[in-house]
Amino acid sequence: MKGYAMLRIGESGWIEKERPQCGPNDAICKPLALAICTSDVHTLWEGAIGERHNMILGHEGCAEVVEVGNLVKDFKPGDRVLVPAITPDWNSLEAQGGYPMHSGGMLSGWKFSNFKDGVFSEFFHVNDADGNLAHLPDNINTVDACMLSDMVPTGFHGVELADVQFGDTVLVIGIGPVGLMAVAGASLRGASRIIAVGTRPVCVEAAKGYGASDFISYKEGPIFQQVLDMTDGKGVDKIVIAGGGVETFAEAVKCLKAGGKIGNVNYLGSGDSIEIPRVEWGVGMGHKQIVGGLTPGGRLRMEKLAALVSSGRLDLSPLSTHVFEGWEHIEEALFLMRDKPADLIKPVIKIED
Ligand code: NDP
Ligand code: ZN
Repeated sequence: MKGYAMLRIGESGWIEKERPQCGPNDAICKPLALAICTSDVHTLWEGAIGERHNMILGHEGCAEVVEVGNLVKDFKPGDRVLVPAITPDWNSLEAQGGYPMHSGGMLSGWKFSNFKDGVFSEFFHVNDADGNLAHLPDNINTVDACMLSDMVPTGFHGVELADVQFGDTVLVIGIGPVGLMAVAGASLRGASRIIAVGTRPVCVEAAKGYGASDFISYKEGPIFQQVLDMTDGKGVDKIVIAGGGVETFAEAVKCLKAGGKIGNVNYLGSGDSIEIPRVEWGVGMGHKQIVGGLTPGGRLRMEKLAALVSSGRLDLSPLSTHVFEGWEHIEEALFLMRDKPADLIKPVIKIED
């Protein structure tokens, strides 16, 4: 089979590989549509997970099942499925402890295009199919379905980590596709005011549609100062971080109310440590919590998130700004994600309807 792979850090291309084997609990799938992620860019060009040779890229898409193992109960060849970016081993101790994304070690629930070949391939392997796949609802198109692999689960996880409650004022730092889903999630959870940080006009427009009420450009002075100015010096109840660098934590702590929570889902690609400002952290006693997390996987969660889309409560159509048709566009879409032109949110490649 052919797949689009990371050949080494900084170099990618098409390769031929053996079709993966299906274990008793597994499924083999073929893509219906695929999406490129900022994490693919970090992996390929920034060496975020270290060197990989001839590893097929990609962890976002939806697919058709072509083969299942003899212990798989709920999926069969021909089923159309949502494919999660994170595919934990559900019988691991970490999963039993409530952290499936860390099954087998920290961050090890992320297997596609990390520990094994990803989904940019004619066929790909899904471990623990009953626990990891979800049926694709009839009224979700294949392009929107790709947003349920990682963008919705990750943005919403930021909201869960920040523990957004009715009436909260929420700051979302970064409004790429992940941050946009954090805005949407905070809205659904009942935030009264959502302040969004980002500059790309297409993202600002989308954020308005998802419920952001105020906007800040990080290019026009410190974020915390702008937030304090907007809130009469009070600050915000909750913060989701989905963009920027290590410096965002100091900014966030400075404009978070005592007792507030920061949920980080952003990848921190540089620096040895994160600075927490002592005084604004209540000299160690401010009850300002900081939690960072990889999105959980799991069929139940995927089905619930998909139900938000099926029922019309969450519209994913604004995210897929660039839709291509056919395998030959994978490379173009990947390079587009790296270059992030001003009108881009997410590139998607339709393979089959
Ligand atoms: P994008 O690059 O599309 O968006 C980044 C956002 O951050 C943009 O709004 C950008 O603004 C803003 N930004 C850039 N620099 C700063 C700054 N200095 N201060 C504040 N905001 C800034 O990324 P994605 O939405 O695709 O992904 C966001 C992050 O989430 C990535 O790091 C990705 O790797 C990570 N991720 C994490 C996952 C998890 O499970 N935890 C899963 C998937 C992704 P502008 O409008 O100016 O471009
Ligand atoms: Zn992703």
